[in-house]
Amino acid sequence: MSTVPAYAAPSATEPLTATTIERRAVGPRDVLIDIAYCGICHSDIHSVRGEWGPQPYPLVPGHEIAGTVAAIGPEVTKYAVGDRVGVGCVVGSCGQCANCRAGEEQYCLNGSILTYGSTDRDGTITQGGYSGRIVVTEDFVVRIPDALALDVAAPLLCAGATTYSPLRRWGAGPGKKVAVIGLGGLGHVAVRLAHAMGAEVTVLSQTLGKKADGERLGADHYHATSDPATFEELAGTFDLILNTVSGKLDLGAYLGLLRLDGVFVTLGASAEPTISFPTPAIAAGRRVYTYSLIAGIRETQEMLDFCAQHGIGAEIEVITPEQINTAYERVLSSDVRYRFVIDTATLRPASA
Ligand code: NAP
Ligand code: ZN
Repeated sequence: MSTVPAYAAPSATEPLTATTIERRAVGPRDVLIDIAYCGICHSDIHSVRGEWGPQPYPLVPGHEIAGTVAAIGPEVTKYAVGDRVGVGCVVGSCGQCANCRAGEEQYCLNGSILTYGSTDRDGTITQGGYSGRIVVTEDFVVRIPDALALDVAAPLLCAGATTYSPLRRWGAGPGKKVAVIGLGGLGHVAVRLAHAMGAEVTVLSQTLGKKADGERLGADHYHATSDPATFEELAGTFDLILNTVSGKLDLGAYLGLLRLDGVFVTLGASAEPTISFPTPAIAAGRRVYTYSLIAGIRETQEMLDFCAQHGIGAEIEVITPEQINTAYERVLSSDVRYRFVIDTATLRPASA
């Protein structure tokens, strides 16, 4: 066991504060990682505020982790001390079920172990990346290619994986029209990825305020969803729409933007538990409505390699741990350009 500085939410209603947590001793197949950077995902905010149900407090969020290997267990084969590595949203799964065997550990039929707020195999509660170090079994560690700096790579571990997976699953590429709703953490990476895959990319943002950024990130078109004309102009246009908005949308209106057999993928996780299913809008064009949850480990590695090949990192604002609560407020007011990343250097244990 080792004691590591961290930032934790004491409850659903209090700001995150400095604390310390215990990391387990490095087991035979474990990797000890010195965390360099951790992105702030909107899911961190949903989680610590209890919007997805009760949480075990104190809770250290953070599942966009980038750092270097500081120690390895004796049976570790994939990593060596000094390697540049990342950890995303999942740190364990059964490894036996059909979904795990298919490399889709996030859909483990026996329940995957999330990077924070989950009960680990040893009965302890997992604690995330807003801390100086983490211990993770090597199967849930990925390699960050040398071409990617650790700070811009960190958000790829969730935002990159979450957007890459449905873009691949639904065939984004040349000749395909892809729309991204919301130019935030997930959205801006989605634009870069879809553009690099060769798709024609449209951003659907609340206003035209970030149009120049969207175009610089690779969007071919940019429309304001606050303008009703957008929905008339773009009716029946898209092969694929990725919805990164965390709140409720008028789903029927957005489904109308899909062409025949078009696919609408929700990524944003509304605090509202149910949607009212827009049957007429689905029926009108044999449209598909689905959801997508992060990506498996193999696909996360594929995404990182793709990003290295295409020079894709997140666009980030680096903050200190003391600025986390202010950053949360800015994310909530859509004032994020385009991912906050915590420099965790000050959270390293004194002995490290
Ligand atoms: P984010 O940085 O806050 O981006 C969300 C964007 O949605 C905002 O920048 C804003 O873009 C738009 N938006 C916000 N409020 C809106 C509203 N009321 N109506 C319309 N548009 C609105 O958040 P994120 O980190 O990208 O995460 C987005 C969502 O995905 C969160 O719910 C998060 O929990 C979820 N998520 C899901 C997965 C998964 O595996 N499925 C993984 C990670 C995150 P504009 O200013 O351009 O409109
Ligand atoms: Zn996330």
